[in-house]
Amino acid sequence: MKETTKAILEKDQKDYLPVFGGRYGIVLDHGEGVKVYDNDGKEYTDFLAGIAVNVLGHGYPALVEAVASQAKKMIHCSNLFYTQAQADAAEKLVALSGLGKAFFANSGAEANEGAIKAARKYGHMTDPDKSQIITAWNSFHGRTLATLTATGQPHYQEGCGPLPAGFDYVHYNDIKELESKMSGKTCAVMLETIQGEGGVYPPKGDYLKQVRALCDKYGALLIFDEVQAGMGRSGTFFAYETYGVVPDIVTLAKGLAGGVPIGAFLCTDEVAKAFKPGDHGTTFGGNPLACAAANVVIDTISQPAFLAHVKEISAYFRGKLDGLAAKYPQLVKEVRGQGLLLGMELTQPGAAAVNDCLAHGVIINCTMGNVLRFVPPLIITESDVDTVIAALDGALSRY
Ligand SMILES: *Cc1c(COP(=O)(O)O)cnc(C)c1O
Repeated sequence: MKETTKAILEKDQKDYLPVFGGRYGIVLDHGEGVKVYDNDGKEYTDFLAGIAVNVLGHGYPALVEAVASQAKKMIHCSNLFYTQAQADAAEKLVALSGLGKAFFANSGAEANEGAIKAARKYGHMTDPDKSQIITAWNSFHGRTLATLTATGQPHYQEGCGPLPAGFDYVHYNDIKELESKMSGKTCAVMLETIQGEGGVYPPKGDYLKQVRALCDKYGALLIFDEVQAGMGRSGTFFAYETYGVVPDIVTLAKGLAGGVPIGAFLCTDEVAKAFKPGDHGTTFGGNPLACAAANVVIDTISQPAFLAHVKEISAYFRGKLDGLAAKYPQLVKEVRGQGLLLGMELTQPGAAAVNDCLAHGVIINCTMGNVLRFVPPLIITESDVDTVIAALDGALSRY
């Protein structure tokens, strides 16, 4: 029996660990395309997409069909056995990435844990002290102990010490600072190809190319965390293609299976030499259900016409956001981002805009307190953008 919104909120608030900051008092029930519906039937245009997860929107027929038919055949089997779904997904990602091997996990944090282990183990092959990992301030890499340490935002780390050793931080887009911290002891530089959680900061100019050159100079691996920016969101399948730089390791998660939990890291065949059977593993990772979903998402997003749509709709959306920036110069500091990972930095806290949009049936997000973040499904149309822009215009006018 369907319960009332009030009853569900009370139950969850009583029994669920209260770790999520700023939860909305809304119970979501179902979705279709770019729309989601709450427990009382109210419709919302969803420009958050489960935080960059529902890349094909809600109820995408081919994805639903693949998950349903795989669930009927077999939901899970141990990695002691092979499945076609896993072999297919690995083959596709290896072909698209130009890298050599794929590994599937269950989340972004877990994908990054695997990447960190790969980098450490690879470094240790040449020198037991080659273990330094450099990440960026303002980055976000996950909530496990190592990825929390990689995350260059001290407030996430408070109370969790002692943290794993060997991490150093630099300012994103500052190549001189990076060089000053690197040496033969650096085993990896780990960066988001576009910073998401930290306020939507794309790389400037040739920054990523220069990072690649420094990594080559010091024999360090370049790890791109594309958990948020990958899977077509930047307008290319991998965000690094947008910037013309190939990493040694790339991680994926959020959008990879369109909402079914999954994570992945891909590495070169050279890096893969650091692993022998038994060195890494997972019970659930790469199971046939998740991989069946991933196969549909990969096939759909990698189509040139699909990626062209992302670029076109991004330009349209961006133009409209720039229009609002021009209309509200006191309120809007900057519009930035790439593809459908866009941010609007306000001069004031963004919560009022998010709540105002929500009241008017539009879901957007705010990160770092004052950066409105837009990570919609990649299938949005101009009319969806118009709906969101109208709500945002209203919200900004009421500041
Ligand atoms: C969300 C995110 C993660 C963590 O992913 P989880 O699935 O929540 O563990 C890691 N890196 C980036 C860039 C992210 O946006």
